[in-house]
Amino acid sequence: MDVRTLVRADFADLEEYAPVKPIEVLARELGLAPDEIVKLDANENLYGPHPAVREAAARAPFHIYPDPYHTALRQALAEWLDVRAEQIVAGAGADDILDIVIRLAWPDAVVTAPPTFGMYSFLARVNRARVVEVPRLEGWELDVAGIASAVRQGATLIFLASPNNPTGNLASVEEVERLCALDALVVVDEAYAEFAGTTFVPLIAEHPNLVVVRTFSKWAGLAGLRIGYGVANEELARRMMAIKQPYNVSVAAEAAALAALAHRDDLMDTVRATVLERERLESELARFPWLRPHHSAANFVLCGVEGRSARHVADALRRRGVLVRYYDRPELRNYIRISAGRPQDTDRLLAALREVEEE
Ligand SMILES: *Cc1c(COP(=O)(O)O)cnc(C)c1O
Repeated sequence: MDVRTLVRADFADLEEYAPVKPIEVLARELGLAPDEIVKLDANENLYGPHPAVREAAARAPFHIYPDPYHTALRQALAEWLDVRAEQIVAGAGADDILDIVIRLAWPDAVVTAPPTFGMYSFLARVNRARVVEVPRLEGWELDVAGIASAVRQGATLIFLASPNNPTGNLASVEEVERLCALDALVVVDEAYAEFAGTTFVPLIAEHPNLVVVRTFSKWAGLAGLRIGYGVANEELARRMMAIKQPYNVSVAAEAAALAALAHRDDLMDTVRATVLERERLESELARFPWLRPHHSAANFVLCGVEGRSARHVADALRRRGVLVRYYDRPELRNYIRISAGRPQDTDRLLAALREVEEE
């Protein structure tokens, strides 16, 4: 029997989504201890989890199934965001929410604005939706007219990130309102909103087709626990709740998220410290004549590399235990993206860059 005939033929050449390798695996490959690695490749919070959050996750009753309605978490989020609990849907990370939205919308075509987060086109392909790429303009501004034209040609779901990953820039209220006026569901992925200090959540009241997606992965340091949420119009949120997997958020993740909200003032201190490091990165990177850092509103800096190969720079940094992302594709030729961590992480990165410069 040929099992290939029993599964979707259009998946035969689908590439696996390539997430970053676990730190232990990388450390072993490099012959380093895990704590010698400076992990600036996945925009994680290098301050690590808050002690009270760690404690709450450890004490969670794992032997009992989670609350499928996430009652306590949705209530706490509703108070924080000043919306109704019925407008919130929790999931195993922002990625789970994006997956729920695309399955609910079941679009023939999806609009993305590259360069952007890879999950959008991945999810579109898995859901057999055509991906209409409307590239960003000069300064990585959105091509709103281009997106409108894609919607007129049949796309019914728009995925966009603000701040955008990897470019770091924000969409404006005016742009999001123009997109919401189109005949499409507009998903604004705010994975980095806490670093930017702005959100489009208040626009949901006037725009029933707007879904804002948020996560505890980046600002609250819970990437490994998988906890995110969507905020939407109540009718849309109700339908999202109806099709999500009942136990999509683990007991530990919900407990950790509640503890993170209870200690958000402490966590926001690390967010502010990370933003200071990002600003320091922007100015220090600009001193290397072969690097072109771009201003960012998130916890990372995208940097053009000139006169050298970005891939070689990333490899040379990696050999020194410093991990960054590199890009070399049509809409992002020869770039690296560096996450902001603690001051000592920036120090290690800058020392390694100076060595690479001499190579
Ligand atoms: C990191 C990231 C996510 C993933 O969030 P999870 O909550 O960890 O699934 C989503 N969107 C963007 C733009 C990201 O950079």
